Amino acid sequence: MSHTGGKEGVLLLSPRERARYSRQMMLFGEEGQELLKDATIFIAGAGGLGSPVSMYLAVLGVGTIILADNDTVERTNLNRQILHTDNDIGRRKAVSARETLEELNPDITVKAIDATIDAATIRSLTGKADGIVDALDNYPTRYLLNGIAVEKGIPLFHGGISGFFGQATTIIPGITPCLRCIFPNPPPPEVFPVAGVTAGFIGMIQATEVCKYLLCRGDLLANRLLLWDGMQSRVEELPIERDPSCMVCAEKAPSRERSA
Ligand SMILES: [Zn+2]
Repeated sequence: MSHTGGKEGVLLLSPRERARYSRQMMLFGEEGQELLKDATIFIAGAGGLGSPVSMYLAVLGVGTIILADNDTVERTNLNRQILHTDNDIGRRKAVSARETLEELNPDITVKAIDATIDAATIRSLTGKADGIVDALDNYPTRYLLNGIAVEKGIPLFHGGISGFFGQATTIIPGITPCLRCIFPNPPPPEVFPVAGVTAGFIGMIQATEVCKYLLCRGDLLANRLLLWDGMQSRVEELPIERDPSCMVCAEKAPSRERSA
């Protein structure tokens, strides 16, 4: 795995940061913490998955978190979208998310963007991020994220939830299958049930993957699709392979996916 995250050791830690991160620097040292501070992660969505992912990446000390969402907080969101509180109902999710993350950790930069993720915006939104987190709830937009991740060679941390079921995998362009290899066709769109704990569980797997990727530590969830059944408390893993005729990532793909 190649590490694409930035200029090592350029950003030094303040005494306050050394105190904030002291318990985790026992694991990966000051150098590891500086790698995290140097990193930029783009999170698509400030909802059920985007909430736990962004909150834990914030307290982890990922230096720049870019979050995009174009929704307003509704009461029906609050069983799972823990970035937002009852007082935020009616407010823009981007604003509410930024406030929560800045309160959690004033030592990071949070760029919360009130924007629709579509074919026109995705290139600039993802910028030069070191990683892209799929915290979406629909496949058409996921395919857009996947397309830009493959095109730019940025890892994509996929998570999906429904009820007490969840799934996650880490996509390293050119090495692992892309999202289209795994799911060539989108499931029909529907309003599906979600237990907040499922979003929390899958979000933690995604955040853990981002952390390991940035630190170049451990084994990523690459070439493996993790499946979680919360009702049975069972984790399964499916081996996954690249599709040599994938319309997005095949070596001889006629053209990159541009829209879904
Ligand atoms: Zn593919």
